Amino acid sequence: MLRTITKVVLFTVGIIAIISNVAFGQQANEQTFEIIESANDSIDLRSNFYDVTDSLSDYFPANELYESWDNDGIYYPKVDFSTKTDTTIIVLCDNKTNFYAQPVKGRINSEYGFRHRRFHYGIDLDLDVGDSVKCAFDGMVRVSRYHKGYGNVIVVRHFNGLETVYGHLSGSRVHENQLVKAGQLLGYGGSTGRSTGPHLHYEIRYLGTPMNPHKVVDFDKFKLLKDTLYVTSKTFEKKNTKPTYSKTTSTVKTSTSGTTAYKSTSNYHYVKKGDTLGAIAGRYGTSVSSICKLNGLTAKSILQIGQKVRVR
Ligand SMILES: [Zn+2]
Repeated sequence: MLRTITKVVLFTVGIIAIISNVAFGQQANEQTFEIIESANDSIDLRSNFYDVTDSLSDYFPANELYESWDNDGIYYPKVDFSTKTDTTIIVLCDNKTNFYAQPVKGRINSEYGFRHRRFHYGIDLDLDVGDSVKCAFDGMVRVSRYHKGYGNVIVVRHFNGLETVYGHLSGSRVHENQLVKAGQLLGYGGSTGRSTGPHLHYEIRYLGTPMNPHKVVDFDKFKLLKDTLYVTSKTFEKKNTKPTYSKTTSTVKTSTSGTTAYKSTSNYHYVKKGDTLGAIAGRYGTSVSSICKLNGLTAKSILQIGQKVRVR
């Protein structure tokens, strides 16, 4: 008898499940929605979170998205998003618990994109050695170590599912597995690793795959473009995409081959320690001779630190 009741109950539940699936399907068709998975449905992204020091738990920020947590790998195995057909919604700011802080409010020295035949996965922001570098969103420090390319580098995984990378630092103020808040001091600007001068190499990644930070941040206002990020296959296009938010005269200069993309809000460069005319010319995608012409210099002129040099 009990078995029969159980069977009936299971059968009924099954029918309801089928009906609700059909109803959902119809609704989805009518509104022509694609399948949408949300990276963070709930507003409080920390509700599922436990301290890393608790050995019984393996909960880390965005644990539901990432299968692992390690303190060593700067490069997380990349996911192939080229075949991604759905949209993942990431709430970046809700004006309550989640918000964005610009790590460094500096001019862009170098854009995301192809550069000298290599791909540059971040944006380089100008700074002076010792300037504060702040955390973009709430999260936990996953990596804080030295790397020959990135120099002193910090990688933070955020509750919203993104990771941010801060390279070439002169010093760190945080340690691995430390919880950090948006706007919290992570370390100090520098020029460590493979770097030609002080700047912050800033990357924004989702599941280990870097995206053009212009897809997230308005670098004229140093604010989020939108409170919500819709992650699709297009989010990871390896293009020197021109920011669409800019209405000022600043432009992204892209050569026909797409190998040079430098944005500058001014046409001048202030000479820093170690700068040479050749290095400056390379950095702005111009030539020594044209810089000399613009400034009345010769190729042998000695540059002074702080000297204002016109670059175009
Ligand atoms: Zn860089």
